[in-house]
Amino acid sequence: MLDLRSDTVTQPTAAMRERMAAAPVGDDVFGDDPTINALQQRMADMTGKEAALLASSGTQTNLLALLSHCQRGEEYLVGQEYHTYRYEAGGAAVLGGIVPQPFEIEADGTLDLAAVEKRIKPNDPHFPITRLLALENTHTGKVIPAEYIAQARELVNRHQLQLHLDGARLFNAVVATGDSLHQHCAPFDSVSICFSKGLGTPIGSVLVGDRAFIERAHRWRKMLGGGMRQAGVIAAAMDYALDHHVARLAEDHANAEALAAGLAQLPSLNVEPAQTNMVYINYPSAEVAQKVSAELRKMDIIVGSSQRLRLVTHLGIPSTSIPHLISAFSTALELA
Ligand SMILES: *Cc1c(COP(=O)(O)O)cnc(C)c1O
Repeated sequence: MLDLRSDTVTQPTAAMRERMAAAPVGDDVFGDDPTINALQQRMADMTGKEAALLASSGTQTNLLALLSHCQRGEEYLVGQEYHTYRYEAGGAAVLGGIVPQPFEIEADGTLDLAAVEKRIKPNDPHFPITRLLALENTHTGKVIPAEYIAQARELVNRHQLQLHLDGARLFNAVVATGDSLHQHCAPFDSVSICFSKGLGTPIGSVLVGDRAFIERAHRWRKMLGGGMRQAGVIAAAMDYALDHHVARLAEDHANAEALAAGLAQLPSLNVEPAQTNMVYINYPSAEVAQKVSAELRKMDIIVGSSQRLRLVTHLGIPSTSIPHLISAFSTALELA
């Protein structure tokens, strides 16, 4: 089975499961889990931040960050299609009384900083208090340029705001650019890094920041029911992923590029250039999209069925499968 819907569909490998089974564990609500403590220290060191906190999901680490940066009636600046606005069920507003100020996203995945600056509210009791700018890297597979992030940092400095990064796929940016995780995290006050995407763990995300910030996040995590006990089994999978699943993201990127190049040869498909581990294809109609998806399913290939379709390469898509995928698309398009 080849499942291209997302990099979240990966199965934990046998070696990862072995590391999980062998992990020493303890009650993490007491701070007693050695595997979690080691992972949090490792992530703090790798990101160059004072402290790190494990949580179940990227949604939770983003929520912890928003709740820890902003009080009720305070505002965060964010992209319309960024995960922290659109895909987290409005948690910041529901649970934190935090006001979102969304912006259209530019073609390169960034926000127009001049537009952002115009929306920063002056200190006036009519307005929410602008507190935070939240960015995302990668966004739909696109690596956000370092120069842009430096400009965003200057903007938040000028207005005494905080800067958060949703780095669910930040390791893809690390591998694509060759810049270290530390370099990617340096401009940010806080970063959320998800391990159940391309890194291939079944669960787990880490939030990093300064010590006082992580202490606030720790309290929020407890309040949200996110305090876990012998969860070192999760941290062990994440530690394994740091050892074995980071450098290999380059294979996913090469596979996405090869897949895009092959699909671009097929008549009637409009293929956008591959970005890290994602390829977007555009079918001539919604009907063709549905039919191709159904035909591919008969060939044990799972893809979505929207007219502009995302294909994601990951651990479960070996490079040897790329020629097969391209010919399967070709066949499915002929039948559609
Ligand atoms: C997947 C994802 C997250 C976190 O999602 P979870 O499924 O909750 O781990 C956050 N941001 C982005 C951009 C994502 O793609």
